[in-house]
Amino acid sequence: MRTIIEPFKIKSVEPINFNTKEERVELLKEAYFNPFLLRSDDVLIDLLTDSGTSAMSSNQWAGIMRGDESYAGSPSFFRFKAAVQDITGLPDVIPTHQGRASEKILFSIMGGKGKYFVANTLFDTTRANIEFSGAEGVDLICEEGKHPSIPAPFKGNMDVVALKKFIVEKGAENIPLVIITITNNSGGGQPVSMENIRAVRKVCSEYCIPLFIDACRFAENSWFIKMREAGYANVPVKEIAREIFSYSDGCTMSAKKDAFANIGGFLAMRDPELALKCRNLLVITEGFPTYGGLAGRDLEAIAIGLEEVLEESYLQYRIRSIEYLTDKLIDAGVPVMQPAGGHAVYLDAKAFLPHIPLDQYPGQALVGALYIEGGVRGVEIGSLMFGKYDEAHQLIPAQLELVRLAIPRRVYTQSHIDYVAEVIIEVFNNRNDITGLKIIEESPLLRHFTAKLAPIS
Ligand SMILES: *Cc1c(COP(=O)(O)O)cnc(C)c1O
Repeated sequence: MRTIIEPFKIKSVEPINFNTKEERVELLKEAYFNPFLLRSDDVLIDLLTDSGTSAMSSNQWAGIMRGDESYAGSPSFFRFKAAVQDITGLPDVIPTHQGRASEKILFSIMGGKGKYFVANTLFDTTRANIEFSGAEGVDLICEEGKHPSIPAPFKGNMDVVALKKFIVEKGAENIPLVIITITNNSGGGQPVSMENIRAVRKVCSEYCIPLFIDACRFAENSWFIKMREAGYANVPVKEIAREIFSYSDGCTMSAKKDAFANIGGFLAMRDPELALKCRNLLVITEGFPTYGGLAGRDLEAIAIGLEEVLEESYLQYRIRSIEYLTDKLIDAGVPVMQPAGGHAVYLDAKAFLPHIPLDQYPGQALVGALYIEGGVRGVEIGSLMFGKYDEAHQLIPAQLELVRLAIPRRVYTQSHIDYVAEVIIEVFNNRNDITGLKIIEESPLLRHFTAKLAPIS
C-alpha cells in the first residue's frame, strides 16, 4: 500500500520559533514545571491539545466572511442548525461558546446533591461541572479499558453489567443521565462500539434514564466503527454517525474538536421541555438562542467543519497519522496505550518511569522531560488531573498515569511527527535521569491547569 498522504495542500503557514535545550530548562522552571503555564511561542511542537487548534479549510475561511452577525434569526444559525440536525437527528440545537458551556447549562438543570451521572469515562470539564452542581460523576469503563498496554478494538466501551448493577444499587431516580463519551478522551481516545452504545441504550430504556453522547470526536469514533466493527465496513461514516445519535436523547459537543472550529460548541436534545430550560439558562449565560456564545461567522465555520470532518479521505489520514506515531514508539519499546487512539498518542507514564512513585506525579515529570528535550508540549492525564486526597491528605491516585500527545487536526506534517518520535525515544533512553515532582500550589477544581510544582531534590 502507498503512503497515505495529507489530503490537503498548505496555503498559509505559521513560523515555529526555535529555542535551545538550555533555554527550555529555564522556561520550564519559570512555568513551575506546568506546561500549561508556558508561552506557546516557546513551544516547538504543541501537542497540548487538539482542541481549537485545527487548521480551518479555505472553505471555512470563506464561511467566516459570509457569516451574518444579526442578533436574532441569522441565516448562519439556520445553516449551523441544519448541519447539526443532518448528522444527529436531534430537533433542538443550542449553540454555546464551547463544550463546557453546554455542560454547565445541562448539569445546572439536571445535577444537584445526591445525584449520579454515569459514564464510560467523564472528561475533566464534564466531571468538574457535574461536581460543581453537587452531583457525583461515576466512570464505568470496560475491563479492557483499564489496561493501557493490552490492545482491544473498543477500549472505550462502558461496562454494561456494572451499569445495571449501579442503577439497581443507587436507584434509577437518582441517576438523571447516562453519558457515553466518544471517543473516550480521558481513557486514551479509545472508541466505543455501536454494539456497546446499543446495549447501553437498552439498559437506559429499561430504567427510563436518558442517554446523552459527549460527541466531541464522533467522526473519529465513527471511522473506528467502520474499520473495526463487523457489518460496518461498507457503511458511509455519516450513516454510522447518524446511527450513533439515533440511540441518544441528546448530546453535548465541543466544536473545537471534530468540527475543525477554533471556538464553539452546542447542546442538542429530543426533550422540548429540557430544551426550554436550557435556553432559559442560555439567555442569561451565553446569549440569544440563535447565536448562543458565538458570532455568526463561527456558526458558519462549524457548519462547514461538520461536513468536512466526515470526509473519508480525511478520517483515513487522521487516524493513520496517530497510528504512525504510535507504531514508531512501539518499535522503540516505548510503553504506549494500545492500540492507537483517535486524536492522540498516550504514553504510559507508570511503565515509562517506574522509579517515580505516583504521589510524585510521573506523568507530569515526563511532560517536563519532553519539553526540555525537544520543545514538545503534551499534557498529563493522571494523578495531577484526576487525583484526590484522603482524610490524611495522602494522594488517592488516578486509575492510569498517562501523558497525552494530542495531534491538532490538519496542522502538522509527517516530518513534524518523525521529530516528535525522535524526541520521545531520546527521553525514553535517558528515563532514569528523570525525577519526581511535588505540588506547591493548587486550586480546588481542575487543578492541573494552574498548579505550580517543584522538583523533589
Ligand atoms: C474538550 C472536551 C470537552 C469540553 O469541551 P470544551 O470545548 O473544551 O469546553 C468535553 N468532553 C470531551 C470528551 C472533550 O474532549
